[in-house]
Amino acid sequence: MHPTDKIYVAGHRGMVGSAILKRLQELGYSHFVLRTSEELDLRNQAQVFSFFQQEKPDYVFLAAARVGGILANNTFRAEFIYDNLQIEANVIHAAYLSGVKKLMFLGSSCIYPRLAPQPIKESYLLTGPLEPTNEPYAIAKIAGIKLCEAYRAQYGCHFISVMPTNLYGIHDNFDLATSHVLPALLRKFHEAKLNHAPEVVVWGTGKPRREFLYVDDLADACVYLMNLEEEPDLVNIGTGEDLSIAELATLIQKIVGYTGKVVYDTSKPDGTPRKLLDVSLLHSLGWRHKTPLEEGIRKVYEAVFLSQAGQTDHKKRAV
Ligand code: GDP
Repeated sequence: MHPTDKIYVAGHRGMVGSAILKRLQELGYSHFVLRTSEELDLRNQAQVFSFFQQEKPDYVFLAAARVGGILANNTFRAEFIYDNLQIEANVIHAAYLSGVKKLMFLGSSCIYPRLAPQPIKESYLLTGPLEPTNEPYAIAKIAGIKLCEAYRAQYGCHFISVMPTNLYGIHDNFDLATSHVLPALLRKFHEAKLNHAPEVVVWGTGKPRREFLYVDDLADACVYLMNLEEEPDLVNIGTGEDLSIAELATLIQKIVGYTGKVVYDTSKPDGTPRKLLDVSLLHSLGWRHKTPLEEGIRKVYEAVFLSQAGQTDHKKRAV
């Protein structure tokens, strides 16, 4: 990508898209085309096709998606598959029609089989049944990877897919009903501390293991991979390190400074027992994560819950 190339970041107001946009700006890129979901509904084929015909972006980061934690995925099953399929099909086909030079599709580590051997290599895709709680989302994301592969094979399009592990960051979703575990626990421990609550409820058994990547690191990896001349069509992006949900709860409890009890609500689902990505391909391409988990969580905690601006923003977004 040259500094003057026109770059479309789809989903630039989301946690991932905003981090990619920020990273591109830090690196001196300045020619962006951006649309909010109110301005351009990516589920609407006619709108998407006319947008691409008019704007003709050179590069596309496809970070727009309907996303959520275990409960949201399990509840809004129809929306998670329909919205994501529409967004991908429209954007990827329009990118082909308008001659986009390179497109990066962002997926998720939940595309891999529920009981895949750990750590999970890219080659394990479609080798076993998926985790039921997020199967509709995963099927849509697998379709996105296959769209990129097919357009690459048939038309020679430079469309690639990256599969980030569980992400967290300052612009995360802190709504307890729809968020992922890390932002949910930050909020639960913080509010329990403020309210002197005797206990914090953690969902499930605490035994599942998850890997977490700071979203600014992900953004750095995406821009790095976009700038490689030749790269595989599917690359995992993670840290290669995981911990149990109980260990995560202990870490967040320490960061927040909460002294009450932690209890487990086993009526809530555990989801996949373990989800650790094999990042040897990413490392062999020359990229490694930089932010240790504790440092990243502290950054988010301070920015969202302790700073004045963060608190106002967090109240607007999360309550
Ligand atoms: P997943 O990685 O797709 O399973 O999504 P989540 O990040 O939502 O959940 C990860 C794990 O954390 C699951 O085992 C959840 O049951 C567990 N968990 C514990 N407490 C919470 C919570 O307050 N919110 C969420 N979303 N998950 C929680």
